[in-house]
Amino acid sequence: MSYKRCLSALLIWSAMVAVATAAPPLKALIVDGQNNHNWKIVTPPLKKLLEETGLFTVDVATTPPRGGDMSGFKPNFAAYDVVVSNYTGDAWPEETNKALEAYVSGGGGLVIFHAASNAFPNWKEFNEMIGVGGWGGRNEKHGPYLYWKDGKIVRDMSPGRGGTHGPQHPFQLIVREPNHPITKGLPEKFMHSADELYSRLRGPAKNLTVLATAYADPAKRGTGNHEPILMTIRYGQGRVFHTALGHADVQLKSVACIVTYQRGTEWAATGKVTQEVPDDFPGPDEPSVRE
Ligand code: ZN
Repeated sequence: MSYKRCLSALLIWSAMVAVATAAPPLKALIVDGQNNHNWKIVTPPLKKLLEETGLFTVDVATTPPRGGDMSGFKPNFAAYDVVVSNYTGDAWPEETNKALEAYVSGGGGLVIFHAASNAFPNWKEFNEMIGVGGWGGRNEKHGPYLYWKDGKIVRDMSPGRGGTHGPQHPFQLIVREPNHPITKGLPEKFMHSADELYSRLRGPAKNLTVLATAYADPAKRGTGNHEPILMTIRYGQGRVFHTALGHADVQLKSVACIVTYQRGTEWAATGKVTQEVPDDFPGPDEPSVRE
């Protein structure tokens, strides 16, 4: 081999080594510390599932417990590509709220995981970011009910409380936006393992795209509507992925929950999804569970 060819082979080899050993390109921050759910068992799989994609390094910012001194809770959101909220609880300092608003509207990514949509009912901009939410006294003053009927989204201004669910049961998701990066390549219908089927969510629901719905069967104390389960919201230049799945750690073994969370978080961070749909992704009839 000539000196030149040897040198170029060496350069290619060192570039390959650099790629193989480089740190994952994206930085994620999970926020937790209070929740009406067991956040302590949910954050570890949320973190591990992002790390498993090979795309993320993950930090966790934990607030003081309920009633604690929140004045020092000031995560540097701007240092991250995506913020994942596993939080619902006491208000944050106004400075922290403003920092999150500026971060997302300036092009940052935000993921709202399950009960995170219960948080901050009276923080106007948070409601704009999450699109719809439940509980916390939410009612018609917070915006319409959002559901799917006769092939389209309905924004229903009927009065009433926001947020309900029946007993946990397995349910099927139906993709309503098959060409979105998060859902592209997923089957039109796929099963999730037993979970709460969040229903009667309401909020400003602006700049919101419903990616997938689930039918809330009246036999399971459901509304009889197709409820929005996976959503995206544009907030300024930012991207929000909102998933209503994932009551506890056991639901984070359901491949439907895992894969939509991993893909949704990458999309919130970058606007693209590079992950392949895995072979164990469920079809329309049976949930797929990883042990
Ligand atoms: Zn729950």
